[in-house]
Amino acid sequence: MGIVVIGGGQAGASLVAKLRAEGFEGDITLLCDEPVPPYQRPPLSKAYLLGEMEEARLYLRPESFYTDHRIDLRLNTRAESIDTAARTVTAGGETIPYDHLALTTGSTPRRLPAAIGGDLHGVYTVRTLSDVDAMAPEFIEGRRVLIVGGGYIGLEAAAVTAKRGLHVTLLEAAPRILQRVAAPVTSDWFRALHRAHGVDIRESTGLDRLLGDRHVEAARLADGTELPVDFVIVGIGIAPNAALAQSAGIACEDGILVDDHGRTSAPGVWAAGDCARLPYRGQRLRLESVQNAIDQAEAVARNILGADTPYIPQPWFWSDQYDVHLQIAGLNLGWDNIVVRPGEGDSVSHWYYAGDTLLAVDAMNDSRAYMVGKRLLEGGRSPAKAEIADPATNLKALLKS
Ligand SMILES: Cc1cc2nc3c(=O)[nH]c(=O)nc-3n(C[C@H](O)[C@H](O)[C@H](O)COP(=O)(O)OP(=O)(O)OC[C@H]3O[C@@H](n4cnc5c(N)ncnc54)[C@H](O)[C@@H]3O)c2cc1C
Repeated sequence: MGIVVIGGGQAGASLVAKLRAEGFEGDITLLCDEPVPPYQRPPLSKAYLLGEMEEARLYLRPESFYTDHRIDLRLNTRAESIDTAARTVTAGGETIPYDHLALTTGSTPRRLPAAIGGDLHGVYTVRTLSDVDAMAPEFIEGRRVLIVGGGYIGLEAAAVTAKRGLHVTLLEAAPRILQRVAAPVTSDWFRALHRAHGVDIRESTGLDRLLGDRHVEAARLADGTELPVDFVIVGIGIAPNAALAQSAGIACEDGILVDDHGRTSAPGVWAAGDCARLPYRGQRLRLESVQNAIDQAEAVARNILGADTPYIPQPWFWSDQYDVHLQIAGLNLGWDNIVVRPGEGDSVSHWYYAGDTLLAVDAMNDSRAYMVGKRLLEGGRSPAKAEIADPATNLKALLKS
């Protein structure tokens, strides 16, 4: 049996490693359009962007791992088309047959339209190693950076550039930063954190256009204000890489549609990671996280080999900004009330409930709250809100009650 995997990111690398760990002996081909072996992306907007992590530490596994495990890792090789009837993939001028095909193509950052200056020099996104290496020379103390988008990527970029001594302005078109992913109380907490570090956060503020000849020189905001800028980092979300699947006739809708086993609409074709839109508690969604990329890819590997087990996500996520380590357990979709639990020192956690049912926890420098929240969620348990709100409650004891 031969298995082809398209996309050498977190999900693709996890999938091929899991196939071998489960004892699969057949051929594995991993097609990667980037020039380097699979690497972790989270440090690209954290330690690596800050210059505190060497490139070698980004790699998920040394290149020798792939050779040692007879994984045919093809770098700089983009899959161009899939023939689901013939069960072949074309890539690098070759037609590669498969018995099973896994799509782990990830996602692409949304860019500002060229019509508003999005293609000027000095406008960057943060997705790949080469994106980050390209912007590194811009990080000179005293320069002015504009960050467009107040999600986690934008906020992490703001923290790094502020720490490096740049003047940082962050624009968020929505009424508050983190609006899509967090409650107002978490937005308030991070706004205060960034302002304390000198970041000029402007919410409900759209960008009209970037100005400049070839290189960006200024930004005109929707209210007419003009800001001089030296460079721009854009963090306005991602779009799933589904075009290849779509043109092969595989069902797609804001991502490649998969069932709870990771199967797509085409026989023998599977998908996992950022590109896949999966069923979750009666709805369909994409999970853009390392946890999902690894766990879903490993579930797909096992199911390709016949395990026949559904993948039930247990979401967790993290973010680092300045000296704050945010850990999130669960998904807060559908929350209607929040319990704030003060921790030790300046640590705090925000517990999301729908009625009396616990959905998620945002823990800022509070790994105990995160760990307990995660285990309660995994066990489907919802502690009484009064107990969570009371700083005297021993959180660990809740796990035993
Ligand atoms: C800057 C940054 C910070 C992040 N921080 C966090 C964090 O703190 N915590 C967290 O949980 N998650 C974080 N994430 C998200 C996390 O990294 C992603 O969810 C994860 O990388 C998804 O893995 P993936 O394998 O699905 O996609 P990717 O890692 O994007 O890999 C997909 C790969 O497929 C390749 N590809 C696409 N099409 C083709 C083709 N036709 N042929 C060959 N190759 C192809 C792509 O070039 C890419 O290399 C962050 C992401 C970024 C960009």
